[in-house]
Amino acid sequence: MKKVAFYTLGCKLNYSETSTISRMFEDKGYLKVAFEENPDIFIINTCSVTENADKKCKKIVQEAKKISPNSYVTIIGCYAQLKPQEIAEIKGVDAVLGAAEKFRLIELLDGFAKEQETKVLASEIQEAVTFNNAYSINDRTRTFLKVQDGCNYGCAFCTIPLARGKSRSDSTENILAAAREIAATDVKEVVLTGVNIGDFGIQEGKRKEKFIDLVKAIDEIEGIERLRISSIEPNLLTNEIIEFASTSKRFVPHFHIPLQSGSNEILRKMGRRYLRELYEDRVSKIKTLMPHCCIGVDVIVGFPGETEELFLETYNFLNDLDISYLHVFTYSERANTRATEMDHVVPMKVRNERSKMLRILSEKKRRKFYEENLDKTFTVLFEDDVEDGKMHGFTENYIRVSAKYDPLLINELKTVTLKSINEKGTVEVTEPEVVYEKH
Ligand code: SF4
Repeated sequence: MKKVAFYTLGCKLNYSETSTISRMFEDKGYLKVAFEENPDIFIINTCSVTENADKKCKKIVQEAKKISPNSYVTIIGCYAQLKPQEIAEIKGVDAVLGAAEKFRLIELLDGFAKEQETKVLASEIQEAVTFNNAYSINDRTRTFLKVQDGCNYGCAFCTIPLARGKSRSDSTENILAAAREIAATDVKEVVLTGVNIGDFGIQEGKRKEKFIDLVKAIDEIEGIERLRISSIEPNLLTNEIIEFASTSKRFVPHFHIPLQSGSNEILRKMGRRYLRELYEDRVSKIKTLMPHCCIGVDVIVGFPGETEELFLETYNFLNDLDISYLHVFTYSERANTRATEMDHVVPMKVRNERSKMLRILSEKKRRKFYEENLDKTFTVLFEDDVEDGKMHGFTENYIRVSAKYDPLLINELKTVTLKSINEKGTVEVTEPEVVYEKH
């Protein structure tokens, strides 16, 4: 029995895809093992958004070869699609597969027999037109269920459409079937995942379904306790979706909404499809209907043309907005994107300073959000981790809590009251009740 190990970089979509590819291997009789367990085959799923993707990829390959010098090393994922030749030159790599090929890797690499030359199977991204469904299971407490792939937007800074291709989706029928499979396991939370999830519904190049209808249909599936939407563009997060989430049985009060800039001038240069006023409206609609809702924001600092004044517009906009945390990205040039041709490049030192300012703001926002929720009662899904005798979990509105470690709490949903914020910035809770089985 050949042993195969996986390593995933990047986003939830990559995790869902690695997990599905690993199940394909298991179905074919391979044994899935941990990275350090001397595998015969390594599959490394890469990301193009990760900083220093090339260095990271090289390092993982080196580690793999140290553990298992005769292993067969395969690289897939966004970085493999964008730079297949560059990866093929990394010492120790046996095969590089692009977006259109990665789900067929077992058949394409027939037997994983080593050859003299590195195999590069990466078609042009236009060839990646089929939707391959995927979900992660058993890897984490939560399952990431892929419902959409690719993007038709073409924002000036983004390489994702080049790495993942055009927007395409699974059918609601298939997704519901996958959700029922997941519901039959003891997974408690499903995160709907995609590149541009609000654009859900395009099949074979034609719009056939709408995201809101998927949301309503999946909410009916018995056996899934929690549903979360991974991240959704503000222009596609309609009032209908917000209103539905506010009354839903299973959708949790948590939205992650990319903003990228609080300056309309920069938003236009980025090619984003909304202005800050729309973003403000979305936040206010959410908070009116769900005052305890968590709102996460993606923001990019140092985009070309971002003067001190425009950056402060972003800073003040975010400071005034009732949001809960930020994911701050320092702008970095990516090959073949429009932004690389723009003038008024912001020096790296300034980009880093701005990033630091927003990270501090994020901590302030998070703390304020946590404080507002103290003494309130929520449900926590406890995870399989232990650190200094403590375990962690998230409330429905994405507050990270800490409780005394008890293995019986793992993957359990427990009602707790939030007590205080500890020195690590997580929230201490009342002791969750554990029901011991009677003999
Ligand atoms: S919406 Fe913009 S940033 Fe998001 S994946 Fe599409 S092109 Fe990239």
